[in-house]
Amino acid sequence: MHGKVLVIDPIATHRIVLRVKLAASQYEVLQATSIAEGMRVVGQRQPDLILCSTSLPDGRPEKVLARLRKVGLFGKVPVIALGGPTDPKRRLRLLEAGYDDVLIRPVDHPLLLARARSLLRSYASTSEWQLREGTSRALGFAEHSAQFGPAACIRVVTRTPHLHTEWKQALAPLLPAKTSVCLPAEAVQAELDGSIPDAFLLITTPGRDHETLSLLASLRSHASTRHSVIMVAQEEAPAQLGAQMLDMGANDLAPHGATLEEIAVRLRTLLARKMMTDALRATVRTGIEAAVIDPLTGLHNRRYAMPHVTRIAERAQRTGKSFALMIADMDHFKQINDRYGHAAGDAVLIEVARRLRSNLRAVDMVARIGGEEFLMALPGVGLENARSAATRLCRKIGTTSIAIPGHPTPINATISIGMIVCDMENGLPKGTLMTAEALLDRADQALYDAKAEGRNRVTLCRPAA
Ligand code: GH3
Ligand code: MG
Ligand code: MG
Repeated sequence: MHGKVLVIDPIATHRIVLRVKLAASQYEVLQATSIAEGMRVVGQRQPDLILCSTSLPDGRPEKVLARLRKVGLFGKVPVIALGGPTDPKRRLRLLEAGYDDVLIRPVDHPLLLARARSLLRSYASTSEWQLREGTSRALGFAEHSAQFGPAACIRVVTRTPHLHTEWKQALAPLLPAKTSVCLPAEAVQAELDGSIPDAFLLITTPGRDHETLSLLASLRSHASTRHSVIMVAQEEAPAQLGAQMLDMGANDLAPHGATLEEIAVRLRTLLARKMMTDALRATVRTGIEAAVIDPLTGLHNRRYAMPHVTRIAERAQRTGKSFALMIADMDHFKQINDRYGHAAGDAVLIEVARRLRSNLRAVDMVARIGGEEFLMALPGVGLENARSAATRLCRKIGTTSIAIPGHPTPINATISIGMIVCDMENGLPKGTLMTAEALLDRADQALYDAKAEGRNRVTLCRPAA
């Protein structure tokens, strides 16, 4: 089953026809004859989509949305109004009330089914991000801030820009958006006017629907525009290829004869959902980043470092190339804390992290894997280069003392490094794969030796027995 659809309609024949069409498309169909009964079904069965007649025995169709608002489901379940031919003003009122679309009877079933698919797709992706955001919040990552960014950016795409230039001015008072008008060939040039459009309004030209279809496909597949919302406005009646446009990724179709006011209301609804999904997506991304970044130094943490070392070791085994791992530990760091205070100790750690990072290549990983311990992984590096890199790092920390704001004198700090170089001669005969933990253990033993031999030095792991 593709989902549960609730049909609210007092007329039995309407319900029967819809049930047959929906069931044939693998939807489970729930039925109600009034708003009251509809709300009972919503409470018990949680439908994924609601199709609601505009003539109901116990109230106006707006009341359905008001009730959904009350139970917190408004904005989470798409709702389509179905009614007799409506005048544009009434359609506008229903859209403003929150209906996702208003379709007229007799119902164009292929169009209705395509509309249902399109709405279910976009609502499902929003709730998927909501779920992930919930998960990242439960794990204690970033808090969600539903801030609205700057005004949205809308691009009107038409073969006749001269006929649509006035849309720019006309949409301005209706929408908090910056509107531009361009030709189809320019639509995918995402940064045409300095920003990636949040919404595209594609105006079809009679007899050239295939061009709109291919533009839709390219906007949906282009990396920079695949999250933009797309609305198609058709200049001819009856609607041509509307169902196909929705299936190709259009989020909405403005019917022939729709006023600019209606187009603005439809765009506003699409943009509001896009802003919410964008914010959720960004929060999840921040949460993932927070999970692998050490907040004090901005370096990667142990959670990131260990699988990264595993990947480097596996690649080295496959390619026969060498790599080096180093563990650096601050010398007598407890004394630094005791003498200057914990905050100064933190500032020293931040500066040490910066020096380690800025003295290695971009491909090298630097992670903070413990309080005052760092792990460096240098892919493709052999013994001599590894030794000179490690010595350079020790010197960079030990020879220039660290100035701390608010402290009269800079602080002297040194590190000791334990290192393992994995190549054919040094501990990793080709064909042997050591786990990240085993590699770190060996580097740790070398670090222990460096401490025992007097600190502020590099010690190499002894070759495997
Ligand atoms: P060694 O040369 O043998 O490594 O001596 P050490 O003093 O560095 O080693 P020890 O393991 O005894 O102490 C490490 C100290 O690092 C103890 C702890 O208070 C301090 N430390 C760990 N994490 C942090 C941190 O995030 N900030 C600060 N300021 N200190 C930290
Ligand atoms: Mg330590
Ligand atoms: Mg230490």
